[in-house]
Amino acid sequence: MTGIDDLPIRDELRGQSPYGAPQLDVPVRLNTNENPHPLPEPLVARIAERVAEAARNLNRYPDRDAVELRTELARYLTRTTGYEVGTANVWAANGSNEVLQQLLQAFGGPGRTAIGFEPSYSMHALIARGTGTAWISGPRHEDFRLDVAAAREVIAERRPHVVFVCSPNNPTGTAVDADTVLALYEAAQAARPSLVIVDEAYGEFSHRPSLLPLIDGRPNLVVSRTMSKAFGAAGLRLGYLAAHPAVVDAVQLVRLPYHLSAVTQATALAALEHTDTLLGYVEQLKAERDRLVTELRAMGCEVTESDANFVQFGRFDGEGGAHAVWRALLDRGVLVRDNGVPGRLRVTAGTPAENDAFLDAMRAVLKENN
Ligand code: PMP
Repeated sequence: MTGIDDLPIRDELRGQSPYGAPQLDVPVRLNTNENPHPLPEPLVARIAERVAEAARNLNRYPDRDAVELRTELARYLTRTTGYEVGTANVWAANGSNEVLQQLLQAFGGPGRTAIGFEPSYSMHALIARGTGTAWISGPRHEDFRLDVAAAREVIAERRPHVVFVCSPNNPTGTAVDADTVLALYEAAQAARPSLVIVDEAYGEFSHRPSLLPLIDGRPNLVVSRTMSKAFGAAGLRLGYLAAHPAVVDAVQLVRLPYHLSAVTQATALAALEHTDTLLGYVEQLKAERDRLVTELRAMGCEVTESDANFVQFGRFDGEGGAHAVWRALLDRGVLVRDNGVPGRLRVTAGTPAENDAFLDAMRAVLKENN
């Protein structure tokens, strides 16, 4: 049997496995930080309309620069953050994963390094690997907050070309304040200078304001966002960034021509027309997230403060550790995420009924283990 390792594949890919959470068919799936609300029917109808319009021109390539979409994304950012950005500040791609990949293609690559403060979103390291960028695992405090002093030290010592700051951080839910980003930005500029990427995939769920205004006067700072979470459109695959126009010019050097299909652009534009309804769901999810924190604490769990649409909880240091609890929840029809953080699991805020099912299952599991 021929396997991957028998192929003339790049050495650093040998023995690796692809990223991906288990996609199991269980009643309550709270493992991939999806938005539990299906798109509202009027939006579904509007998507059908806009896609039909786009379909009439599918013999042509799409707008390569996605100008209308970038303009609407800029309006959305301006309206929700109070910081004015224009079309030239915004770039869009197929999910923020592709945005991050394009950034690493342009600013990382062979002979270059990127750093993230772990545990964090594991795709940062994987996208680094895929683009031939060496990865540096930076530290965090024991309570998962970013350790600014230690971060500055490792940046000064290792002089990475790219610095990832994930806020709110996946899988811990931890957000950082503007002063922290500024401290890391200054350290990164003094060391090299390097590109600082603030991954705000969960920005809309935060108790804190967006870090977007920090791009002002800082051409080496990028904020990356997605429609997968707040817009409830993970299936759409639409991510975007906001930065100095020069960064947008730089990613255009590596993007594939016509990377965003006309269907994707039409669908995203339709979703942006329904921003207010979708942001209403975000408010409900924030309340559910806060309820999960409160109820898990009431059960005696150790819960990490969350600014995202998910909650990290533990500690499960007994026999089998967190994975045994993950399994016990799955046996009760509830799928959460084991990110490999010792003693901890992550649950996505779902509908009130899904969250009730999760909380009931947790009570039963804890009772059984006592
Ligand atoms: N950044 C973070 C922190 C994430 O958790 C995710 C999705 N899990 C992404 C980026 C990528 O999201 P997408 O490609 O769907 O925009």
